[in-house]
Amino acid sequence: MARKLEHSEALYARARQVIAGGVSSDARRLPGTPLYVDRAQGSRLWDADGNAYIDYVLGQGPAILGHSPDVLADAVAAQMRRGVTYSAQHLTEIEVAERIRSMVPCAELIRFNSVGSEAAHAALRLARGHTGRDKVIKFEGHYHGWFDPVLFSVHPPLDAAGPADRPVAVPGSGGQLPGQAADLVLTRWNDLDALTDTVARHRGEIAAVVMEPVLCNSGAITPDDAYLSAVRRICDDEGILLIFDEVITGFRVAPGGAQERLGITPDIGVFGKAMAGGMQVSALAGKAAVMETIASGKVSHAGTFNSHPVAMAGARAVLEVLDEKRDDIYPEMERRGRRLMDGFAAIASRLGVPMLVQGTGHLFQTYLTGRPDVRDYREFAATDRATMARLHGLLLEEGINMVPRGLWFLSAAHTDDDIDATLAAFENALAKLS
Ligand code: PLP
Repeated sequence: MARKLEHSEALYARARQVIAGGVSSDARRLPGTPLYVDRAQGSRLWDADGNAYIDYVLGQGPAILGHSPDVLADAVAAQMRRGVTYSAQHLTEIEVAERIRSMVPCAELIRFNSVGSEAAHAALRLARGHTGRDKVIKFEGHYHGWFDPVLFSVHPPLDAAGPADRPVAVPGSGGQLPGQAADLVLTRWNDLDALTDTVARHRGEIAAVVMEPVLCNSGAITPDDAYLSAVRRICDDEGILLIFDEVITGFRVAPGGAQERLGITPDIGVFGKAMAGGMQVSALAGKAAVMETIASGKVSHAGTFNSHPVAMAGARAVLEVLDEKRDDIYPEMERRGRRLMDGFAAIASRLGVPMLVQGTGHLFQTYLTGRPDVRDYREFAATDRATMARLHGLLLEEGINMVPRGLWFLSAAHTDDDIDATLAAFENALAKLS
């Protein structure tokens, strides 16, 4: 029997009268009625009709301790009574910065913003201001927020994207100035020859190479072993800054993010999402010599809500737990994620559905494809994404919420019972797909 969505449908109809398109972010559009959440706790969500879901979206990644953990709720509530916003300096921001510095390899100096897009924007401005160069190498399929200068070739239609080894910059939105692509150099990720060739064509012009070090916006792809160390070496040789956008991977795939897990330290890291467990905070964290360009005032960085006291109180509480319980939280999250990954692959094989599951366990991607692996955007784009969107709808009917493109986030609140229930639900949904 289909879920009852009477109240959600009524809310959607009402919303469309006052909220453009009925949703507050394009990422929340669904083919049918968007999810109207009534409340969320631990690994669960309940919608406006009382339907319960085991949640693997987690607010698009942030809720790493699960929804509304006491440690976060208490920290936020206590700070609310001490002042919601100061737009001034305070002790908590220093403590959060000290914690980040102790956890993240590249984080010698830090600045805070509110959301990932802002910090990514700041990272590119910093790189340009620091090097005195204009161009930035960006990879097809990587997402660095919704701001104009980087919203190119995130999920471009392949018939507009040019050849794989020389992709062209495809705008992601109406209203972007085409000139904004002039200083972005697009190339194929996880392909050393493509990068070497691109750098050679623009010698002396490139300020930065920016990437998601584990690609999470077009699958969940860990790059080839030798790739990142070669990228690091090329950047060093050519005076190019290496920026890791760790908005998703930070504090998730390891306490120190992908840079810790993969053993490559960038010059600048961008963080958000999991660092405050669900409060809106982002951070720009980099080598002291680079961040000096902000410290000196040469490159401007600002924001009314930067180091917002309530959000910082949340970040302090969440980071303390992640750091001090690291030996428990990270291996357990990975183990449970891998139980799902292995279980999904076994179910798909039993049902004869061609499926690939890739990721670190803390996050992973299910792809509908017969390929043995997916290594970049073009290979991701060749998987059956339309049927994956259909599977998302079938999973919702079974009480499971995954990111519609097939991405799954784990939290410390997911239990082995959740995993068992999810495997059973997944089998039901997949059986209905064919
Ligand atoms: N960078 C990456 C890798 C992201 O995945 C996102 C958001 O999903 C952003 C930047 C932008 O962050 P925000 O949505 O908080 O602006």
